[in-house]
Amino acid sequence: MARPALLALSLIVATAACSREQPSTASGSKTPRPSILLVTLDTTRADSVGPDAQDVATPAFNAVAARGRRFTQAYAAAPETLPSHSTMMTGLYPAGHGIHENARYLATTYPVLAEKLQQSGYRTAAFVSSFVLARRFGLARGFEVYDDELAVGSSERTSNLTTDRAIAYLAKASAEPQLIWVHYFDPHTPYAPPQPFLQQYQRKPYLGEVAAMDAQLSRLIAAFDARTAGAGALIVVADHGEGLGDHGEAQHGTLLYQSTMHVPLVIAGPGVTPGVMTAPVSTRRVFHTVLDWAGLASQDSLRGTSEEVVLGEAMKPFLEYGWQPQTMAVDGGLKAISAGKLEAYALGSDAGEARNLGSGVNLPARMRTSLDEYPIPSPGAARAPENLSDEAKQRLASLGYVGATSAPVVRKDAPRPADMVHLFGALETASSLFVQERYAEAIPVLQKILASDPYNLDATLRLATAHSTLGHDAEALAAFGQASRLAPQSQDVRTYLGLHYARGKDWQRAIPILERVVTESPDRVPAVETLGRLQVRTGGAAMEAGDTEGAVRSFEAARRLQGAAFKNDLELGVLYLASRRLPEAPDALDRVPPSHQDYPMALFKRAQVSVLLKEPDAPARIAAARQHADATTRSLIERESLFRNR
Ligand SMILES: [Zn+2]
Repeated sequence: MARPALLALSLIVATAACSREQPSTASGSKTPRPSILLVTLDTTRADSVGPDAQDVATPAFNAVAARGRRFTQAYAAAPETLPSHSTMMTGLYPAGHGIHENARYLATTYPVLAEKLQQSGYRTAAFVSSFVLARRFGLARGFEVYDDELAVGSSERTSNLTTDRAIAYLAKASAEPQLIWVHYFDPHTPYAPPQPFLQQYQRKPYLGEVAAMDAQLSRLIAAFDARTAGAGALIVVADHGEGLGDHGEAQHGTLLYQSTMHVPLVIAGPGVTPGVMTAPVSTRRVFHTVLDWAGLASQDSLRGTSEEVVLGEAMKPFLEYGWQPQTMAVDGGLKAISAGKLEAYALGSDAGEARNLGSGVNLPARMRTSLDEYPIPSPGAARAPENLSDEAKQRLASLGYVGATSAPVVRKDAPRPADMVHLFGALETASSLFVQERYAEAIPVLQKILASDPYNLDATLRLATAHSTLGHDAEALAAFGQASRLAPQSQDVRTYLGLHYARGKDWQRAIPILERVVTESPDRVPAVETLGRLQVRTGGAAMEAGDTEGAVRSFEAARRLQGAAFKNDLELGVLYLASRRLPEAPDALDRVPPSHQDYPMALFKRAQVSVLLKEPDAPARIAAARQHADATTRSLIERESLFRNR
């Protein structure tokens, strides 16, 4: 993140945390530190759980609420799993920790909760239920146990399985206090609760999932209470809600309305005054609350009474499609959403956000300042890490998460995501068809998207790539042309164009394009791999044409690009020998593995080089070549004058 943005963020945190902080009772005292159970409920709306929920029974959650403090205005920092959890684990908004979407990696520069507790003597264990929180995305740091094991071919596990694991862990003795984080994923799509909940919630299967999850929460808390003799500390919170059609949003991740941002939150345990808290709070304070119980800090703990302007963001449509960045602030009963223009809602009388008070509303100064200063990420933050395998992409896609192909074009007249809800379905369908490599079906969907949103670079590039993969050369080049007009400087456009040429008869045109990409961004794996392959191909062609120098140049380039994966050391060694670059030949030939089908040839060539370089072990090299000779090398060895009398 740029320095000014960092400064702005620290201002936000300062403003948000200002005033009326009361030191909580337990920190600093000599009381023994409690074991702490943090349960995060994925995709759980505030109105689907708790004593006020309609049409659903959640006795386990209600029991925690009855013995602890329930927050009726708790807010996720972002409506997506990894950003929201990263916030709870760092105490920072996404602008602070840099995770705006799933499938990113939380940088190791930010201290996480588990690390802090582990360093202070806690035993730490996590049990997560979705691939979205797998170890590789960076939240495992500081956890002695990080159980993210899923059945083969599955991207999630149900709460009964996760609970079994956590209970088995709780059964083991520990002299030290424990931090246990359990993540449940059941209410995420598809809504398919187990029996008897399927039967009981036939008409509302989403609520059936919530009820099934609550039953597991009951088992988990019973085991935790037994372990801690009821003296433990508990937090139950959702990472975000679910649209269920509100404001046109079926699931979550694209808008900032209450259905996905307003979440359930309860805490119970030492130093918690039971009751209901109606002031808005951010789930970012889960971090501070756990630290407070562990005696490490009390600022911003939910055991205290500090007030804040609660912030939130939904940057996915901005990062993926170049639409307006969206930020949110809640202060008292007022909520504002900034996305190109300002929306405001009086939550007390309009919880459904049906009456937009508009930009004319008089926002409190600290609310406006917080919104204005919330940093907007750079468009490049959209790109998924290049080390994400196809398998990982498939698994994310199976959960409905498919990342952008490119950094978006940032445009002044960018559409507001809330005005584009009619495209959400098509965008999801297109990306998911794309990940499944169903390109022919993706093309009409992409054309429909582009008819509504012609400046959408992601859709344009996907269309170009779909045509390219299907061998529609003219259509592909037309779409690539449009993509470069939209984003003349884009490395993404260059990369995909290079990959396009690499597929076809004009593959040599790909080389200078990909060379430029690799020079400027050496971490772009597809560009590096494709260029490596093309250099091998060029080297082979040069070798056949008798262009020894050209062949050496290409194979050397391939070797730099492919590293340990380079398979043409034999060719390179033979070429060094042929071009009398003797000192370079031994290394190349020595790298040819015994498993290589022409290993006898490598030994033969190596023996020749050894004699020419007058190496003392030349006789042993000749002996090895003779010993391993095959039909081809046997006669070559017998006719080789360098080997006479040796
Ligand atoms: Zn989630």
